[in-house]
Amino acid sequence: EMVSAEEISVSSTAGSRPTSKDAIINLDHGDPTVYEAFWKRMGERGDIVLPGWQTMSYFSDVSNLCWFLEPEFAHQVRRLHSLVGNAVVDDGRFIIVGTGSTQLFQASLYALSPPDAAEPMSVVSAIPYYSSYPTVTDYLRSGLYRWAGDASTFEGDAYIELVCSPNNPDGSIREAVLSSKNGKTIHDLAYYWPQYTPITGAADHDIMLFTVSKSTGHAGARLGWALVKDKDVAKRMIKFIELNTIGVSKDSQLRVAKILKVVSDGHELPGNKHRLFEYGRRVMSVRWRKLRAAVKASGIFSLPEFQSSLCRFTGEETETYPAFAWLKCEKEGVEDCESFLRNHKLLTRSGRHFGVEAKYVRISMLDRDETFDLFIHRLLSLR
Ligand code: PMP
Repeated sequence: EMVSAEEISVSSTAGSRPTSKDAIINLDHGDPTVYEAFWKRMGERGDIVLPGWQTMSYFSDVSNLCWFLEPEFAHQVRRLHSLVGNAVVDDGRFIIVGTGSTQLFQASLYALSPPDAAEPMSVVSAIPYYSSYPTVTDYLRSGLYRWAGDASTFEGDAYIELVCSPNNPDGSIREAVLSSKNGKTIHDLAYYWPQYTPITGAADHDIMLFTVSKSTGHAGARLGWALVKDKDVAKRMIKFIELNTIGVSKDSQLRVAKILKVVSDGHELPGNKHRLFEYGRRVMSVRWRKLRAAVKASGIFSLPEFQSSLCRFTGEETETYPAFAWLKCEKEGVEDCESFLRNHKLLTRSGRHFGVEAKYVRISMLDRDETFDLFIHRLLSLR
């Protein structure tokens, strides 16, 4: 039976809780609502109060190259990276704030493309790549850059390679697959946080993108940041944000500064029970155990396997628990896994959007408990 668009908008779980056992389960997006339970338990610790007369000016800090960057937000970003050890944040590095890392991704493309080239820069990423990379790259049909597909089969000297690690959709740890004098890379490290993967060292790349969407779960704040080595690249990224949105919401920056402060305090103060990354790891490990058991019992699906490594943040040997399940349908005669699951009222994203076969689907592991448990129940009913 087919599910209509109307039925999905009325009764699916996107943004809400399932209303019945046979509700449409929407795990197409990576909406990080799993973190709501943690922040509810934090009570008022994450609150801020903003008087009506505050945050009115466009400007945050005119002495900073990134004049719309709130100093307290920048401070908490540096503090959190130093605590977790997942990225180099030395004084030479520029922090640029963006309306989600989605805006910073576009700012990076703008900054890395020569303004006067005869042909658009080729933008590539190894398959399976994050489904937004091709669509966001091409939606304005820019003359500066153009999506050129799978990095592994790209031939040419000038390009921008997107490296997502741990990778959306499959959770793999990645490095750039291309190298050349004229090649540039953007490292999308949205998932390089201890709840998803062992922290094996401080990343030290030219452009690194991070987001609160996947670190603390505050996707609705629409806030990301870039760590940038080169001053001229940083300047061009800032120019893009000036032209695109004349800066980034100060309210969001102040709110997120508080959120990041609470996260760092939680891990730094002894005896504190409120540790976000511990909570995240625990929830993700339980979910992955349930998922692997259900997949095994079903006999018609498979999942990627991961090796554990020493996490320098926790000091323990830890496993990888990706934010998405990259599920392969092994059932005889089923070529299109997304349709197969859709017919069982389970909405996922087809491998086709990630540059691979429709036998694969991506499923969010970051929804609320009720929705996740219903999903496991649904998987177990499939044969
Ligand atoms: N990069 C990756 C790899 C992502 O998975 C996502 C969110 N799905 C983003 C970037 C976008 O993050 P933001 O909400 O900060 O725009």
